[in-house]
Amino acid sequence: MTRISHNFNKAAYTFTLIIILFASELSHAGDTDSEPSDSQILINVSAIIVDGEKGKNSSIRKTDDIENVFSRVNQIWSGAFIKFEPRSIIRLTIPDDALSEMINGNYSPFIKYASKLNLLTGNYDLTVIYAHKIGGMNGRAMPSEKLVFITDYPYVEDYRVTSHEIGHILGLGHNVTDPERLMYSGSEGSTLVKNEISLARENALKFSSGL
Ligand SMILES: [Zn+2]
Repeated sequence: MTRISHNFNKAAYTFTLIIILFASELSHAGDTDSEPSDSQILINVSAIIVDGEKGKNSSIRKTDDIENVFSRVNQIWSGAFIKFEPRSIIRLTIPDDALSEMINGNYSPFIKYASKLNLLTGNYDLTVIYAHKIGGMNGRAMPSEKLVFITDYPYVEDYRVTSHEIGHILGLGHNVTDPERLMYSGSEGSTLVKNEISLARENALKFSSGL
């Protein structure tokens, strides 16, 4: 009995020692001398999936699709150490006339409608809207409103469209020479270069609530 107890104590002691060593290693890891500019910037995202009345022209996307899109968006943006967290993903049924306008590329009725419901203000740093069609475009960014619109039927991957439009929100313009770049229009490119990273981070810091 004594022997078992002794072994047990010895094991417990060893275990405790390992924990202490591990904890001290961890606190060390957090204590690096990296510049503050290297720290991750977190952007809280609200995603809205747009439905039509009686289901007509509703988005075909599901909540899971949006989560998958953002995990791929985060792979692309990890190079800039900016992370987009879809904190809220909702479906919103909008009036038929607002949806037809949106399909034709006029987002104002949608913006009015969603604003009235307080869906575009406050708690999130950025709102990304997924809709059936948005006027024949893959995506559209409105930097001053911090709004991004994405169609259900882009001709490049949806996570790439989302990442690209987010680039516009973060102040990046188009690159016209290299299809490998994220900011090349209409390709599958995903590369961010150094000056894009620093500009995007500078702007991201301005509107990240940091929560
Ligand atoms: Zn663009």
